[in-house]
Amino acid sequence: MAITSERWIDPGRLQAQIDDLAEFGARGETGVARLVYAPEWVAAQNQIAAWMTEAGLRVERDTVGNVWGYLDGRQSGEPLVVSGSHIDSQNPGGRFDGALGVLAAINALAALRERHGQPERTLAALSLVEEEASRFSTANFWGSRAIIGRIGAEEPKRLRGYDGVTMAEAMRDAGLDPNRIPEAKRDDIGVFIELHIEQGPYLEQADLPVGIVERVTGYRQYLVTLEGEANHAGTTPMDLRRDPMAGAAEIISGVVNTAHRMGRPAVTTIGRIHAQPNERAVIPRQVSFTVDARSPLPGQRERLLARHEALIREVADRRDLTLSLRVDSDRRPVLADPVLVEIIAEAASEAGVPAMRMTSGAVHDSMQLAEIARMAMIFVRSRGGISHSPEEFTSTEDAADGTEVLARALYRLGYA
Ligand SMILES: [Zn+2]
Repeated sequence: MAITSERWIDPGRLQAQIDDLAEFGARGETGVARLVYAPEWVAAQNQIAAWMTEAGLRVERDTVGNVWGYLDGRQSGEPLVVSGSHIDSQNPGGRFDGALGVLAAINALAALRERHGQPERTLAALSLVEEEASRFSTANFWGSRAIIGRIGAEEPKRLRGYDGVTMAEAMRDAGLDPNRIPEAKRDDIGVFIELHIEQGPYLEQADLPVGIVERVTGYRQYLVTLEGEANHAGTTPMDLRRDPMAGAAEIISGVVNTAHRMGRPAVTTIGRIHAQPNERAVIPRQVSFTVDARSPLPGQRERLLARHEALIREVADRRDLTLSLRVDSDRRPVLADPVLVEIIAEAASEAGVPAMRMTSGAVHDSMQLAEIARMAMIFVRSRGGISHSPEEFTSTEDAADGTEVLARALYRLGYA
């Protein structure tokens, strides 16, 4: 198809909404702290609903607080074509993570309605309630999990935020009834496309504004606990020690080197370590640490995990340490729908937006929704690859380029 220079998306309107939304929970010059169900979050979600109405969309809120804006199609009963992301942030985070995907969806549907009128199939913009786990440490994907029916009945009472409030109480504070969470479950979504900032350096290195995600990484997160014998740092000979810190040091450098040697895209991170008794002149009794290992390639992920587990066992065994190896979370890589990937690539070339295919090293709501719908993602360039920080930045041009590609992909899915 011929490359057209005429754009459907108004960059000025998109940027104005990015700036306005950042006022809800603003921290300093460019930061945002918008935690799920907090007053500034409620106000932001109300603003999103108002923009949806302004864009000519029919607004609906579900029982966990996700906001849906429908551009109703002529054919009823067809599966929905949905695009969106989340409006909660890290504490503090930036203006773009999640928020840009919600605003891109609204602006794309507004442009489609203005230019092309009513679609054949119903299109929807979706503002999800929660993705970041920044208020409740294990709430991740609260909004998208509600939609796929994967919130445990006991979770609202069990989850307690860093502020001491339970999820059930936080929901009530926001005017929602935690007993009605199951009503948010849906089975009418055919397609979910999430636009998101890249949160990594690949697009910047390639000097491209837009990425088309082919797969989202898989990961496994462990808690490793090594137990030995606490003793005096001066009087215990090296050959008589059962030292869990020495074992931890060997394991940590070993797993990091394994990922390094395996090469991109494998990554392994030790993010947290805890020693007991944690004293200068005492061999610790116990050391525990986390291991987060990821690869979007299924075979590589399995090899990485197998080597990590073998090394951990071998070191514990050789050093006569008691080992507990707990798996806290485990997810296989998720493939984007290949037909959607092609549609987005065609939309990008039609819009004259240069794009490359890539993998996502971060996890997203789209991973959850992939369980019930065909899924794809559009990435836009992050300056310096920075995210989860007030420093995160995406230019107006790049945000508009990504939104242009989204609008043209949704056109192909909704109007053809
Ligand atoms: Zn996000």
